[in-house]
Amino acid sequence: MPPNYSARLQRLKEEGLYRQLRIVEETAPGKVTLEGREALLLCSNNYLGLAGHPALKIAAQRAVAQWGTSSGASRLVSGSMALHEELEERIAAFKGTEAALAFNSGYAANTGIIGALTGRGDMIFSDKLNHASIVDGARLSTATLIRYPHNDPTALRRLLESHPTKGIRLIITDGVFSMDGDIARLRELVSLKNEFNALLMVDDAHGVGILGESGRGSVELCRVLEEVEIQMGTLGKGLGSFGAYVATSRDIVEWLINNARSFIFSTSLPPAVVAASLAALNIVDSSEGLELRRRLADNSHFFRESLRASGFDTLGSATQIVPLLVGDAKKTMAFSRLLLERGIFVQGIRPPTVPKGTSRLRCTLMAPHSRQDLVQAVKTISEVGKELGVVNRHG
Ligand SMILES: *Cc1c(COP(=O)(O)O)cnc(C)c1O
Repeated sequence: MPPNYSARLQRLKEEGLYRQLRIVEETAPGKVTLEGREALLLCSNNYLGLAGHPALKIAAQRAVAQWGTSSGASRLVSGSMALHEELEERIAAFKGTEAALAFNSGYAANTGIIGALTGRGDMIFSDKLNHASIVDGARLSTATLIRYPHNDPTALRRLLESHPTKGIRLIITDGVFSMDGDIARLRELVSLKNEFNALLMVDDAHGVGILGESGRGSVELCRVLEEVEIQMGTLGKGLGSFGAYVATSRDIVEWLINNARSFIFSTSLPPAVVAASLAALNIVDSSEGLELRRRLADNSHFFRESLRASGFDTLGSATQIVPLLVGDAKKTMAFSRLLLERGIFVQGIRPPTVPKGTSRLRCTLMAPHSRQDLVQAVKTISEVGKELGVVNRHG
């Protein structure tokens, strides 16, 4: 008998863990149509709205006109264009590092970097709530993986003390945790990596372009920009483009060019994408970027504090990612469905993305959201939360 995937799918449905693609069309910044409905978009990582920005569109169009639609090969074959190098120099300057290297996505960066930097005899210390791509990168490495309790430097210290090694110790953390929206305790992690002679890698997928006065990310916010050796980030979220980077030393970049399999064995980023990323970095560095960051921070603060006041548990959120804890997976999906019927698009997040019993609505704010739309969203979410008993009915 062939394996029966239909029975397995049935089981997922019974557990409330079945996942399905939905076709979404953005009609205006922060507004979408899906399933024939118009809705406020509260689950996009296009935080600053740059994906629809005229400067990025024009840069991409010009690049297509000049260089076509594909780089045609991997970087080490014939797919390394002057444009890739320009992006890498721009990112290194932006982050103040010796060098930078572009990757095809954040997923590819993490799966490539971690295995290239560590091997047998080495140890990876990874926060328990780190992104799945970090977990997969650690799995691809032959180093020993030690997962430390979430955002707990004291527990990490004990683990570092009890796991001596002559090899490399790599501490890895998300800068902003993607499902909880809290910020890593980077200052403490920097002290630990100094004390234990370890390397520190920060994945700032949700921080770059967003956090810190100049948008350098969680490392700027925590004032450790010059102390984190390996700064990884993505170009497809706040920066409105696609791809990822690592900003680090010249030696590590050269090592990755020679050893990171996801870098070596994959066609390089197409010119339009690279051009859009460069345009996005220019905006981040402009007064417009500053204004977009301020608006996003205002929107996030308003939304989070309003829902907290309504009785929602927003976990440790301190950023534009605002989870609303529900607990049960099926109830979370029912919440999401009811919201869509009332004009709000938020995805429910369930295991295995988050631990069992912590299913949640993961709301993400955008700079282009209007205050009026957010006021309405808070009202609707509170109503549905009461109907479902997620928050106190009489609160
Ligand atoms: C989204 C994300 C990634 C993956 O980046 P992509 O460019 O979407 O592949 C990696 N790390 C974190 C923390 C993320 O949130």
